Amino acid sequence: MPRPAPSAGSGSVSHPLRPAPYRKRRLGNAAGTLEGPRRCELCGAAGRVRCGRCRLTYYCDVDHQKADWVSIHERICQLLIPIRTPLPFLLSEKERKHGMEQLVKRQKYIIDLAHSAAREFVSGGKHKEALPAALHALRFSTEVYGSDSVQLVPAYLLLAEASMGVGQLLQASKYLSQAEWIVLRTPDCSLAVQHKLHRSLGLCCAAKGNFEQALYHLANDVYLASSAFGLKSIETSGGYFHMASVFFRQNKMDVANSLYTEVTDIWHAFLLRSVQAQEQVLQSRPETSPFTEDKEVSKDSMTEAQQAEATRVLNAVLEIREQAPEQQPGETARVLHALAMLYYLALDLPKARELGLKALGLLKQLPRHESLETVARLLKLIDSRPACPE
Ligand SMILES: [Zn+2]
Ligand SMILES: [Zn+2]
Repeated sequence: MPRPAPSAGSGSVSHPLRPAPYRKRRLGNAAGTLEGPRRCELCGAAGRVRCGRCRLTYYCDVDHQKADWVSIHERICQLLIPIRTPLPFLLSEKERKHGMEQLVKRQKYIIDLAHSAAREFVSGGKHKEALPAALHALRFSTEVYGSDSVQLVPAYLLLAEASMGVGQLLQASKYLSQAEWIVLRTPDCSLAVQHKLHRSLGLCCAAKGNFEQALYHLANDVYLASSAFGLKSIETSGGYFHMASVFFRQNKMDVANSLYTEVTDIWHAFLLRSVQAQEQVLQSRPETSPFTEDKEVSKDSMTEAQQAEATRVLNAVLEIREQAPEQQPGETARVLHALAMLYYLALDLPKARELGLKALGLLKQLPRHESLETVARLLKLIDSRPACPE
């Protein structure tokens, strides 16, 4: 992996990130490079260090340069050149129009890249690394769509999530207020966006210890998600999970338990459908070689984000089930079964087998459990699968 040009220091982000002033770019003049003093890409302070590759991006110090490089600049360094280099005078109206269209296209491409980079860091728990990428997503979205567009909401939510992850709750609240303000001013804002906003607001309140407010937002999240995706959808289950965690922290175990059961049931049903769908495909094409079949099979399977969420949520529920003072073997077996299916679909067969066997062991202690057969069938399926090469 190439490194940023000059590099020294710990790489830690020493001061809070805030967007540098937007460099408005006009066609036919040198705006963006000659307009005003050079500003740090991350914090907007005076730029003293320049990226040696694109030669167009400035930083206040090497720490901010390194932070930006790791998060997003490595991926967009060369893409910024056509965006930040002033265009020559364009003669015709047609050429001007074409130039603007190209610019917007490139900016939208960077928004997508920055967005997915930030999302990836956040789901991997690397919140500090997510911040510069999320900031770029916001900055370019603002340039393309304007500062009060609903298109900015995903970037604000990512920034809030990353800020919460690094413990900057006040900053997270500020980003969320921006998102909330935009959503309130957008009467036709989609349910999906509103549900995500309420989820983030709920998580932020929970992090601050404001449980009542957190539950209010999470209940809204569940209502909006179930209106958009259905009551038993995995989108809705996230809201239930976070509500359960708040009740758990309040020591209201009865409500927490029943919500954890709801979450488990939703994922269990979803994973069971996925396993059955895959089984059918495998049965219909027994001649397929083990190396091509995985690609074929995974066509309509879980997305990476769904897989990451399922892993996080189900493992958290398992831990709570296993540490509960009063054991509920049926509930624990159900989480284990769901996790075994998840690892089976992710082709982590040893882990799938281990958890499947654990579930089977618990179910055998119970009087005639209907899941016994399904778990045994899964274990057979796991054993029939050729070990996947790394
Ligand atoms: Zn800086
Ligand atoms: Zn660069």
